[in-house]
Amino acid sequence: MKIIVAKTAGFCNGVRYALEMTLEAIRNKKADECICTLGPLIHNHQVLAMLKERGVEEIQSPDEATGKIVVIRAHGVPPGVRKELYRKAHRVINATCKRVARVQAVIKQYARKGYSTIIVGDENHAEVIGLKGYAEGRGIVIQNVNDLEKIPQGCSKVLLVAQTTQNEKTFAGIVEAFRRKFPGGVVKHTICGATRERQEEVRKLAGIVEAMVIVGGYHSGNTIRLAEVARSTGIPTYHVETEKDLNMKEMSRYKTVGVSAGASTPQWLIHNVVQALRQLDDS
Ligand code: SF4
Repeated sequence: MKIIVAKTAGFCNGVRYALEMTLEAIRNKKADECICTLGPLIHNHQVLAMLKERGVEEIQSPDEATGKIVVIRAHGVPPGVRKELYRKAHRVINATCKRVARVQAVIKQYARKGYSTIIVGDENHAEVIGLKGYAEGRGIVIQNVNDLEKIPQGCSKVLLVAQTTQNEKTFAGIVEAFRRKFPGGVVKHTICGATRERQEEVRKLAGIVEAMVIVGGYHSGNTIRLAEVARSTGIPTYHVETEKDLNMKEMSRYKTVGVSAGASTPQWLIHNVVQALRQLDDS
């Protein structure tokens, strides 16, 4: 079997930075200090298990941060939550990805001018919750063109942005409909370059292999979208978390397989999947 691994597979800069900062904090902490993250640091069970083993706690609210070292993850948090963390925690390590912070700043800038913000993304995703927090109560989250149609017309001050890991094609379709509905509206293309490159490479790879394997958390939004991109090309696509999830009997039918991974998937998990596929050659 020929296996082609995407060059863009695995950690994006934002996730790598957040993990490095957390590992550095673990190395430097005093014996009586406790490190925690507000929500899961990244959407990957295997990495979270590793952090737990090293004593990193996961808290769900700023109220639990009192006296602890708190890491704000790459997705960022709403401004109110951020303030509370700085007030309650012993120390805050702000690992908000620079690109996410830029989107937060754009929303804040337009909100101050009285704009409403439409965010294309997953309503319950931490990044979107954080972004919405900057819209001064005038943030609306949509997922598709139909949701856009439900928003009443008439408002001239409208800003459109996307969650940094949104599907490019979905966003492009919404931009088109948005320009028709709100001719005076402002569009900011906020999908991260890392997401775009990853999706483009998967599209290209899907054109030259028989099947695609996408490695990453089953609850990782960007991994799910990557699998959607591969599937949309019409080839069989398998989303797996680890090599144990591979259906070897099924995989053995293919002569060429492409492998990519979400932005929160560590290299060792990708390596394990590739090794497992390679064993099919030896059996
Ligand atoms: S996908 Fe892009 S914006 Fe999102 S955390 Fe990674 S580098 Fe930052």
